[in-house]
Amino acid sequence: MKINISEVFYSAQGEGKYIGAAQVFIRLSQCPFDCPYCDTDMQDKEYFEINNHKYNNPVSAEELSEIVLKEFGAGNNFHSYSITGGEPLIHYEFVKKLAYILKNKSKAKLFLETSGLITKYFKELDDIFDIMSIDIKTHSEKVLNNLSVLLEVLSELKNSDYYLKLLLPQENAKDIIDYTAQELYKYNIKNIIIQPVDSIIRKDIVDYLYNMYYSKNIEARIIPQTHKILAIP
Ligand code: SF4
Repeated sequence: MKINISEVFYSAQGEGKYIGAAQVFIRLSQCPFDCPYCDTDMQDKEYFEINNHKYNNPVSAEELSEIVLKEFGAGNNFHSYSITGGEPLIHYEFVKKLAYILKNKSKAKLFLETSGLITKYFKELDDIFDIMSIDIKTHSEKVLNNLSVLLEVLSELKNSDYYLKLLLPQENAKDIIDYTAQELYKYNIKNIIIQPVDSIIRKDIVDYLYNMYYSKNIEARIIPQTHKILAIP
């Protein structure tokens, strides 16, 4: 199986619990969803470049792992490989194979970034990835209804260090906070990272948010997208 790669690069993780960690980002192409704030380039590319070397698309997991190991080494100067998208889980078999090869040939950790909208693979992923960054999407009723399915699956995971990341818009922020606090409480999930859309949040929403989550014993942290502030990829 071969797929298209959007880009592979070395930078700092700009979001979530591992903010600031050095990572090799492997961005797989395509996503079937339509989040209104999406800033990912969905165009399929003929090739991707690393350190001024061109590699033609599509590639197999074996080919990509060889390229990545040749270009970045086996994890001596970075924390983890971040497999991201688009939505990487639409290429599930590819992701699994790539993760297994990198796990065996490198000492870097394996990190997955996903929308949280495809829930059926999480139990298997829990044994493969060291860390999973999972979004909570809130932009429509349909995606909100997905949350209880996601939380039920996550509450059974035992191995990976997963965390939930909520992109919070200003519009309907309090309703979203109420709903997510209630759902996290129901599934006994104790942490959430809040990233305000466009890194803007009103002070009254900050106060409301902390009160609502902490009153349910959920540790909430608010952070901006720091790679945008630092102007790095
Ligand atoms: S899931 Fe991610 S890549 Fe897909 S549309 Fe939403 S923000 Fe964009």
